[in-house]
Amino acid sequence: MRIARFTQGSDPRFALVEGDGDDAELVVISGDPIYMPVQPTGERVRLNDDGVRLLAPVIPRSKIVCVGRNYVEHAHEMGSEVPEKPLLFFKPNTAVIGPDDPIIAPDWSAQVEHEGELAVVIGKVTKDVSPEAAMAHVFGFTCANDVTARDVQRAESQWSRAKGFDTSCPLGPWIVPGLDVEDLEVSVRVNGERRQHGTTSQMTFDVPYLISYISEAFTLLPGDVILTGTPAGVGRLEHRDVVEVEIEQIGTLRNPVLRR
Ligand code: ZN
Repeated sequence: MRIARFTQGSDPRFALVEGDGDDAELVVISGDPIYMPVQPTGERVRLNDDGVRLLAPVIPRSKIVCVGRNYVEHAHEMGSEVPEKPLLFFKPNTAVIGPDDPIIAPDWSAQVEHEGELAVVIGKVTKDVSPEAAMAHVFGFTCANDVTARDVQRAESQWSRAKGFDTSCPLGPWIVPGLDVEDLEVSVRVNGERRQHGTTSQMTFDVPYLISYISEAFTLLPGDVILTGTPAGVGRLEHRDVVEVEIEQIGTLRNPVLRR
């Protein structure tokens, strides 16, 4: 199942995505499936129709918790070791954009980079949950790009500005519930050329452990999002680039890059 959030110009609505490519259709549902039971409205919309636009499948109500250096090869390319415990930071919900929305490179950074990541969308209030019980608190999974002002990240000991600026958290294209995420390929292409590649099996701390660890510090609320770290191959984004994060069994999140 794939759950999308979309607009035809007015208020956002939710839909189940059926079919692929040119044949994909949105089966419209009532309400927001993260927070309430939903039903099909009977309306179907072609995804390719003019005026239909996918939105970020979730706008986190309270927080996006991100995990740094969770893949060994990425930690090494950054000149770092994998931390002994998960390294956590936040992005504000104002950083979120959806599929095809532009990433706006801030004028105070000369080095904006992509980090393709598996994103976990929380479905229930989660506090002090064990790794064994953690997956029952997940609503579903989507693709994320942890866009990073690398020069600013290196210059400042707190990462809020480097990783939390407006447009630094593309999410989408939709949420897939009930996925086994132990071994999914994660890749990033820039202008069609592959830059990052890995699988979620290479994570130092796996998804159940991360949810448990994070929930010992912060109460996770429905609609909160966890970004689980990026595989090796991070690199620069330039004006007019198009960056794609593809995760096996989820889909492809595509965003253009603009520098103003
Ligand atoms: Zn990251």
